[in-house]
Amino acid sequence: MKQKINHSALKQQFFKKLLPLWPALKGSLAQVYKPCIRPNCPVCAKGRKHPNYLLAFTQKGKRRCLYVPLAMVPLLKRALTNGRRLEQLLYEIGPALLREYRNQNPAKTGPTARLKRKNRPLKS
Ligand SMILES: [Zn+2]
Repeated sequence: MKQKINHSALKQQFFKKLLPLWPALKGSLAQVYKPCIRPNCPVCAKGRKHPNYLLAFTQKGKRRCLYVPLAMVPLLKRALTNGRRLEQLLYEIGPALLREYRNQNPAKTGPTARLKRKNRPLKS
């Protein structure tokens, strides 16, 4: 038997949680130290290198890295946190859909149904 399942409430809850999670991304941010290309750089001359950030991510199955401008580091850190929250949100949807289905379609078999049958008043 085909039944139309109404999950518009769940959908609305999902979108409500989804919007504040922008921007979201998957990957990792790493701080690396590299020498620069400036000639006679006093920092590099002292043997100290410049801090740089790299964003590592997977694209079409391949590991890739991109340099991240310092000004974008806070935004990308927030995006990584949001990415983890988004993933958690996706994990919650399966159980929520099943819970809703069960609420709309009370079990006809199983322990709950057996209990209900036992409690049903006898026909006269
Ligand atoms: Zn330098």
